[in-house]
Amino acid sequence: MSTIKIINTFFAICFLLSACNSVQPISKSTTFPIYAWNRGFNNPSEEILQARFLDLKNKGVTGIIYSAGKNPQRYKRAGYIAKELGLSFYALLPAMMQHKSSKLDQQLYMVNGLGQSTYNKPSFPNNHFVCPSRPAVYTYLEDMYAKIVDLPEVDGIQLDVIRFPDVILAPALWEKYHLTMDKEYPKYDYCYCEQCTLDFKEATGIDIKTVEDPSALAEWKQFRYDLITNIVNKLAAMVHAKNKKITAAVFPGPHSVAKMIVRQEWDKWEIDAFFPMNYNDFYLEDTAWIGAVCKEAVEAVGDSRPIHSGLFICPDPANKANEKDPEYFGLMPEELGAAVQASMNNGATGICLFTSGRMTTAHWDALQVAIKKGQ
Ligand SMILES: [Zn+2]
Repeated sequence: MSTIKIINTFFAICFLLSACNSVQPISKSTTFPIYAWNRGFNNPSEEILQARFLDLKNKGVTGIIYSAGKNPQRYKRAGYIAKELGLSFYALLPAMMQHKSSKLDQQLYMVNGLGQSTYNKPSFPNNHFVCPSRPAVYTYLEDMYAKIVDLPEVDGIQLDVIRFPDVILAPALWEKYHLTMDKEYPKYDYCYCEQCTLDFKEATGIDIKTVEDPSALAEWKQFRYDLITNIVNKLAAMVHAKNKKITAAVFPGPHSVAKMIVRQEWDKWEIDAFFPMNYNDFYLEDTAWIGAVCKEAVEAVGDSRPIHSGLFICPDPANKANEKDPEYFGLMPEELGAAVQASMNNGATGICLFTSGRMTTAHWDALQVAIKKGQ
């Protein structure tokens, strides 16, 4: 089959798929921001991206948060397509979690309270985290983000995994990992590398390795909040100097969850918007909780910068009751309206769907009803 024939066949299939879809485009007059986290790791073709983004736009999505690895060309291509459609476009890349690379020395990885490095002995599978105290880590991150933020096709970047490893795991995940995380345990507590312990001693006079219960020491907590905040604010200055935007996917809170379990004091971050991952099922909570954490976020940040409430979508509602892995839990279509409403009623500027690929037709229908109610 010739290339043109393949393309024609592709568009014919796309047309049929869109014709079969019962969801009608949301009125163009709506200004309610709906972002969608969207993955492009398999490097989809231009035709696939064009069809995907157009479909999302027709369903009311106003911005794409695109995750596709570190190659800037992937963001350039996807961003161009998104911008042509009038969608805002952000590149999403992990910060502190970094796979082993020839560009990152083994010594740059975080060390836990038992002296084990995430390089070769992470507390959870594949959780290789680099240490925020190391200048080489910042240089690596700045270079990675700058290459992408320099592209005219992207509005900005979104920081992902800009945090410490989970010292307390969200409760729904305890069973999956056969854990009871009722307090901070040394195996999951970071970072006790030479640089961090030395810097902390210089700053406070305290040798953290001699402290019996480091979790009780407020200075040690603050020291680590500040390490992440400093990296974020340096990256923010770099991005703003290029007249681009910087946002972050953060844990809920910041006080009730983010600070406590991943050491994100994100109300001190000088970024343009916050996308708290208000994934209620991970915390064994309902949609009212989503409203409560939105309220907390708005009160913490003030009303000058937007909070976009990240909603965790159940990819297979019919099978949710049988699902064992919390990664596949999430909002059912009949819960989505309440989740959107709770977010809006408590000051969120918009929402972000995790992920657009997990949304079923029933979810899109429910979303449209919720948006119309809010207009
Ligand atoms: Zn360290």
